[in-house]
Amino acid sequence: MTALNTKISVIVPAYNEAENIPVLLEKLKKNIPSKSYEIIFVDDGSTDDTLNILKNLRKQNDCIHYLSFSRNFGHQYALRAGLAKATGDAVISIDADLQHPPEVIPQLIQKWQDGYDIVYTLRQENKNQGFLKRKTSNLYYKLLNFMTSVSVPKGAADFRLLDKKVVQILNKSPERDLFLRGYITWMGFKQIGIPYQVAKRHAGKSSYTLSKMIRLAWMGITSFSIMPLRIASVVGFLTTLLGFLYACYVVYMKIFTNHFVVTGWTSVLVSVLIIGGVQLMIMGILGEYLGLIYLETKKRPNYIIQESSFKE
Ligand code: UDP
Ligand code: MG
Repeated sequence: MTALNTKISVIVPAYNEAENIPVLLEKLKKNIPSKSYEIIFVDDGSTDDTLNILKNLRKQNDCIHYLSFSRNFGHQYALRAGLAKATGDAVISIDADLQHPPEVIPQLIQKWQDGYDIVYTLRQENKNQGFLKRKTSNLYYKLLNFMTSVSVPKGAADFRLLDKKVVQILNKSPERDLFLRGYITWMGFKQIGIPYQVAKRHAGKSSYTLSKMIRLAWMGITSFSIMPLRIASVVGFLTTLLGFLYACYVVYMKIFTNHFVVTGWTSVLVSVLIIGGVQLMIMGILGEYLGLIYLETKKRPNYIIQESSFKE
């Protein structure tokens, strides 16, 4: 591999990854085919030794930078903080736990040199990823692509290379809950996917708890689609139609036949319950979007950096 003249940035979000960082760093150094590079670790409010390790590494190597959040803000924000600081001609984001093999980096860079602006990776299914995570992830991408106008490739992870111009546009986006996977697909440019095998987590355990996963999943849908609102209108319309038809039927039976339409508690109760339920559901969905607008209007920062190796 010939050394490149361009600068490569690598962004690593890290939440309690003390044991993984040194191992990852060695592998990264071996796999970045460029003399000029920077590795930006974003400590997302870790409670272990992560920040100290980063500070020490920084002392030994100028190419290493760190940002440290004032608390745990989440993986997506850690990525954005890193993107905002990256100065490379190409920026690669990779997980700290070695599940994204650094050995794939030369391939990402090769594709970039071939003229692609966005080189994303496609996780190939294998045993290293838990059964449940695999299944739910597949199902989720199907749902996401059905509900939204962007089609996020199945198995796309936050392991990718972005050209500098793409990063600049991303950094200008004021959107709050930025679902990077969807946003990047939506951006266009020349994109290509590279398959890779997920590895086992090197040390520690996944901090993507069920609730964090659900939050990310819901954000993916609501930040790209107003389909839930549309479904709410359709459901509302259908229930109204049903009620109207039933009313016609009752009137018809009363006037033109001698049959008595069942006049029980049951029918009343059932319709009250169904309509009540549907209304609450629709209000809930409306509320969700109202909440998003509320959060967006407050213009709070997405994350707070408490310490960093950058000057300003
Ligand atoms: N991560 C983070 N903040 C969080 C959770 C995770 O920065 O709140 C980082 C974590 O250190 C790792 C990456 O995001 O580098 C992926 O997290 P994890 O391995 O826990 O998720 P999984 O691989 O199970 O999806
Ligand atoms: Mg992981």
